Amino acid sequence: SGFTVAIVGRPNVGKSTFFNRLLQERKAIVDDVSGVTRDRQYGVADWNGKSFNLIDTGGFVPDSTDVFETEIRKQVKIALDEANAVVFMCDAATGITDLDEAMSDVLRRTTKPVFLAVNKVDNHERLLEASEFYALGIEKIFFLSSMTGSGSGELLDAVAEII
Ligand code: GDP
Ligand code: MG
Repeated sequence: SGFTVAIVGRPNVGKSTFFNRLLQERKAIVDDVSGVTRDRQYGVADWNGKSFNLIDTGGFVPDSTDVFETEIRKQVKIALDEANAVVFMCDAATGITDLDEAMSDVLRRTTKPVFLAVNKVDNHERLLEASEFYALGIEKIFFLSSMTGSGSGELLDAVAEII
């Protein structure tokens, strides 16, 4: 299938962890150490008998003044140029940040389907806290833990449904 899904979101929200889990092989670099330059990675995923291309957008933000240019603009460009749908990942452990808000402002304006993936929902307490992400105003919202895999099936079902 030529259907392509881009995973976007600020650094360290868990994009590569999700990507790797979906591909079931380690193709993207998962890193907790800031300062590692990471490029985008391409893979093919299968879900519910549907096959689609997956782009893991990486990118290291060198300094805060450059954040919009280097991270958001680049990722959104990749998403809009190359993808048919976007998984916008956020981090329930840190909550909503300015960068999340800036990115959702841009993504709300695209006509492509955007799936908000609130990641790191590892337990019930996190799930309660994660409800703050409804405030981003993105209708298709999913709560998951890429670490445990919990909740990712619901997101993937929704993605597969539009292919
Ligand atoms: P990326 O920069 O968005 O690609 O994020 P990574 O996939 O490199 O992950 C950044 C950090 O978050 C790593 O230490 C991961 O192990 C961790 N991480 C990813 N998903 C989860 C999750 O669901 N729960 C928790 N607790 N940690 C996660
Ligand atoms: Mg990454």
